Amino acid sequence: MAMMEKTPAYGARAAKGPVAPLTIERRDPGPHDVAIEILYCGICHSDLHKVNDDWGETRFPVVPGHEIVGRVVSQGDSAFRFREGDLIGVGCIVDSCRTCRECRAGHEMFCEKGVTFTFDSLEPDQKAWTYGGYSAKMVVDENYVLRVPKELNPARAAPLMCAGITTYSPLRQFGCKRGDRVAVLGLGGVGHMAVKLANSMGAEVTVLSTSRGKQEAAARLGAKQFVATTEPGALDPLAGKFDLIMDTISAPHDLEKYLALLRNFGTMVLLGLPPDATAATPINASSLVFGNRRLAGSNIGGIRETQEMLDYCGKQGVVADVEVIKANQINESYARMGRGDVRYRFVIDGASFGA
Ligand code: NAP
Ligand code: ZN
Repeated sequence: MAMMEKTPAYGARAAKGPVAPLTIERRDPGPHDVAIEILYCGICHSDLHKVNDDWGETRFPVVPGHEIVGRVVSQGDSAFRFREGDLIGVGCIVDSCRTCRECRAGHEMFCEKGVTFTFDSLEPDQKAWTYGGYSAKMVVDENYVLRVPKELNPARAAPLMCAGITTYSPLRQFGCKRGDRVAVLGLGGVGHMAVKLANSMGAEVTVLSTSRGKQEAAARLGAKQFVATTEPGALDPLAGKFDLIMDTISAPHDLEKYLALLRNFGTMVLLGLPPDATAATPINASSLVFGNRRLAGSNIGGIRETQEMLDYCGKQGVVADVEVIKANQINESYARMGRGDVRYRFVIDGASFGA
C-alpha cells in the first residue's frame, strides 16, 4: 500500500460552497514524482464554475486550484528534471497517456485515453480523485511540472499556468502579429492576460467590457482603446474592425453582435465556458458566410506550449496583476468574481492553507 500524507486544504463539500478547510491525502512521491510546497495558487473562474457545479459534473468534496507556483521539496529516485528548492509551476494537467496522437503532438488536454486534470479528475489508476492547488502541498509526475523563469515574481506568475496559456495558445494558433487589431471581450483574469500578451506581440488591443470602472486599468495593461459594451450604440463604430476577438466572458451572452465586429477572414475565439450557453447563442449562417468569418474555441494548452509561454513571459516580463489573499478570503473573492469585480486575479498565499 502506498503511504499517504495528510495535507491541509480548502474545498467545497457541496454545490455552491462554501469553500472551507478540510484535510486531504497526498501520495508519497513515486519514482517519477516531485513533492511540492505550494507557495501561491490563483483563483480561476473555472474554480467557481466547478464549486457551483455549473457544468453539472463536479464530484464533491472538490479542492479547486490549477494555477500553482511552488518549490520542490523532494523527488522520487528516477525523477531527474528538478532539484530541491526549484521554483516550479503546475497548471491544469497532471497526467495523460503520453503515447496517443494527441499526447505526442503536445495536446495532452485532448489525450485519447483521458487526460488527468489537476483537480476533480480521475487519476490514471482509475481509483484516486485529484485535488488541486488550494492546499499546502502536492505530488506531481515531473513530466507535468513546469519550470518558472527566475525573472518572474512567483505570486504574479501563478495565473500564467491557466490564464496565461489559455490566451497565449490561441494568439499563436490564430497568428497574432504586429499591427493586428485584437479585441478582448471581458476584462477578468483571462481577459487581462489576453490584453498583456496580445500587446506584447505587437497587436493593437481594444477592451470590450461591461465595467466602465476598468477603463484606466485597460490602458495600463496595454489596451489602446476601451469600449463600454452596455452603452447604447457603443459597438456600431467597431463593425468589421478586428482580426481576432478573444471572448473571455464567463456568463451566457449574444455572440452575433460581436461576430459583426470581425473583419473579413477574421476569427472570434471562445475561451469562456458559461453555463447554459446555448440559450443565448443562436447564430445566423450569414454572420459567418458573408465575410469568411470564423468562430473558434480554444482549450488551455499542452505542457510543451505552457513551458514555451512561461519562457516567453520570462523574456518579455509579462506577469498577471494580482490581489494576494489568505485562504479564509476565498468565498469573498468568489462573490467578487461573480460580480465581475476582479483586479485582475486573486492569488491565494499558500502559507495560509494550514494556518
Ligand atoms: P473572471 O476573472 O471572472 O472574468 C470574466 C469577465 O467576464 C468578468 O470580469 C467580466 O468582465 C465579464 N463578464 C462576467 N459576467 C458577464 C456578463 N453577464 N456579461 C458580460 N460580461 C460578463 O473569469 P476568468 O477566470 O477570466 O474566466 C473567464 C471564463 O473563461 C470562465 O468561463 C472560465 O471558466 C473560462 N476559462 C476557460 C479556459 C479555457 O481553456 N478555454 C481557461 C480558463 C478559464 P467585464 O467586467 O470587463 O465585463
Ligand atoms: Zn483556469
